[in-house]
Amino acid sequence: MIFTVLTLFPGIFDSPLKESITKKAVDKGLINFNIINIRDFADDAHKTCDDAPYGGGPGMVMKIEPIYRAMEYVEKSAGRPRYVLLSPQGRIFDENTAIRYARSKHLCLVCGRYEGLDERVLNLVDEEVSIGDYVLSGGEIPALVLIDAITRCIPGVLGNEQSSIDESFSGGLLEYPQYTRPDAFMDMEVPPVLLSGNHEEIRKWRRKEAIKKTIFKRPDLMNRFTPTDEDRKLIREVMEEIPE
Ligand code: SAM
Repeated sequence: MIFTVLTLFPGIFDSPLKESITKKAVDKGLINFNIINIRDFADDAHKTCDDAPYGGGPGMVMKIEPIYRAMEYVEKSAGRPRYVLLSPQGRIFDENTAIRYARSKHLCLVCGRYEGLDERVLNLVDEEVSIGDYVLSGGEIPALVLIDAITRCIPGVLGNEQSSIDESFSGGLLEYPQYTRPDAFMDMEVPPVLLSGNHEEIRKWRRKEAIKKTIFKRPDLMNRFTPTDEDRKLIREVMEEIPE
């Protein structure tokens, strides 16, 4: 899969993409990056990419022409990608969107800066995506968030495919609690079932704990969760354990 990024600050991507999971995915030939400086597509001597807003007001707005030309360049060399504009006004990014994007051959992430982009850029992109209800200084960190989450969903990227299946959100629940050595630290002990070696008991315990965590930490997720018969039984057990 190709990730193309259109940005005014390509240096932001230098180090994060060269570490850990994204680096391994590049080394395995599963993804590659094409970080494009929008400024290279400005047509004046000063390489101007922003201008004052029509109608007045604070700050500067990113101009449409350099972005349009950068897109033309991308399409000439690699065909038309799926264009995603990072914006606090977009639909909130979630795991299902990451899974959907992971099926694309070529994704182009468009990063805004300053007061944002000329509204007409919206006509050039396929989707507008936000990483949360707060305003950041630019779309580069949101683009890195998308790249990381999407890369994890590409088959072959994570060593153990089960780890993405068990992870929070993938089955509609938060992930069960995890422990590692030592089995006792101060007065905090690892739940004995995890040391029992009984795989069926461990599976059931994890499912119940995942349900419990979701009910207590993210009850909103339970409204969208489709339980199996076993899950219904476990939900009842969790509810019965709540002290009055
Ligand atoms: N004036 C804009 C508004 O109020 O909607 C905010 C502009 S923001 C300072 C500059 C750029 O950062 C945006 O164009 C967008 O690309 C990016 N950005 C900021 N917050 C974001 C968020 N929560 N999710 C995705 N992108 C964001």
